[in-house]
Amino acid sequence: MAETLDLPLGTKPVVVYLFSNEVEYKQYLDTKFPGFPKRRAYFIETAGKDLSVYTWWGDQIGEDLRHEYTHGLLHASLTNVPLWLDEGLAEYFEVGGSIPGQINNEHAQLLASDVQRGAWRPDLARLEYLEEVKDMARADYREAWAWVHFMMHSSPDTRQVLLEYLQELRTNPNPGPLRDRLVTIAPHLDQRMLGYVASLNGPGHWGVSFPSPGGRPAAVRAVSHP
Ligand SMILES: [Zn+2]
Repeated sequence: MAETLDLPLGTKPVVVYLFSNEVEYKQYLDTKFPGFPKRRAYFIETAGKDLSVYTWWGDQIGEDLRHEYTHGLLHASLTNVPLWLDEGLAEYFEVGGSIPGQINNEHAQLLASDVQRGAWRPDLARLEYLEEVKDMARADYREAWAWVHFMMHSSPDTRQVLLEYLQELRTNPNPGPLRDRLVTIAPHLDQRMLGYVASLNGPGHWGVSFPSPGGRPAAVRAVSHP
């Protein structure tokens, strides 16, 4: 992850609480964080800035740990992690495989079918406006994943915009909307995004990589699946 995003890993520990089964996990979470909706896994940053991952040993443990631990590493390295970007990167890195950036086929297919039936259009400005996990619908996780994948793999320029934004977040908690920066290097942004989403389902899409150029919880993040 550090290599892919060109980010130095933080020195803060990320503690993983891994329960052997769902019942113990749920009991513990209900006691420690009452009222949290049912989710398979959680990343929680306390007001004291402790970084913790909570989950249980189920069928999707690899995916869940990759997802939540990504949140941990981002929060250990950056002064602030905008919700949509936090989830987009977690979705990006949760997909297994020897190299990051493999296609999440479920996301890719659902996005394409939503486009076809007129149920979805890219809207990064709306996504950047979301602040609470409860505001993030399943479709928002998908879109966040797609924007990260688009930036990482559609061109060296879009990738550069994302990496520079992350560098800025190391010292500046409010660098402003990312969309404004993307539009300057990628006019007709939404149209390009629609084309990119269509290409994700085409044959032979390998997720092209480009070389690197060099009190209340402060944050709660959860997997999209209940
Ligand atoms: Zn998450």
